[in-house]
Amino acid sequence: RIVYVNGEWLPESEAKVSVFDRGFLFADAVYEVTAVIGGKLIDFPGHAARLKRSLGELKIPAPLDADSLLDIHRQIVMRNKLDEGLIYLQISRGPADRDFEFPKNPVPTITLFTQAKAILANPKAETGISVITMPDLRWDRRDIKTVQLLYPSIAKTEATHKGADDAWLVEDGYVTEGSSSNAYIVTNEGRLITRSLSTAILPGITRASVLDLARGAGIPVEERAFTPEEARQAAEAFSTSATGFVMPVTRIDGAPVGTGKPGAITERLRAAYIEDRLANAI
Ligand code: PLP
Repeated sequence: RIVYVNGEWLPESEAKVSVFDRGFLFADAVYEVTAVIGGKLIDFPGHAARLKRSLGELKIPAPLDADSLLDIHRQIVMRNKLDEGLIYLQISRGPADRDFEFPKNPVPTITLFTQAKAILANPKAETGISVITMPDLRWDRRDIKTVQLLYPSIAKTEATHKGADDAWLVEDGYVTEGSSSNAYIVTNEGRLITRSLSTAILPGITRASVLDLARGAGIPVEERAFTPEEARQAAEAFSTSATGFVMPVTRIDGAPVGTGKPGAITERLRAAYIEDRLANAI
């Protein structure tokens, strides 16, 4: 693969980042993952806007303007002939002598790489995934998309060791979100429930699009927290993320959700998301 490091395009074996990089030493970095379908970027403006916000919240100087950001995303797709998969972008505060205090004049490190992945024909979208609930032990600024991903990584690993696909995280008795996705249920009355935005969850770009589509389709939406118990009693459940799109959740803590098959509203939203976002891909 050809990767991007600070303005250079290099074979992955030749790309280098300093051992003093604060992304490496302190997880002092933010990232974005953008899906690519048919060589085009899905929901790119949303990802670019969230990146800017994450950088601002951490006072990392934005090293690229919006046009250059789009240009390098397009170039990496072309240079790698990527048809379907994802683009990973990371911006760290850059290298500095190891000190907890932020450096005065940071020189951010920008890296991008691509990963091929079947997104549309993901077999999990047919069967749904199983999740287990686990305590949410992340820090309190989950609205910032940082590379501090050790706990989500532990949660996902524990879920797979227990034979599940992923973890839904729980704080003060309520589901926050998935290890790398937002979480939703559909009640027996057909109402779509997902936690409202706050510092407790990441404002998913897919979440914003899916909620718009649901409202446009006349599906009642309630942005509020729900408990694992309410989720287990729900008619349907699903998660959303840039590379999972709308992913049916058919088991929670071992018990089937509804019929145990992907629900009708979930499937409708997945189809609507694919149609709408592909039509708007750039
Ligand atoms: N929540 C968390 C913790 C995530 O890591 C992600 C994506 O990776 C999401 C939600 C979904 O966000 P998006 O739809 O922007 O990919």
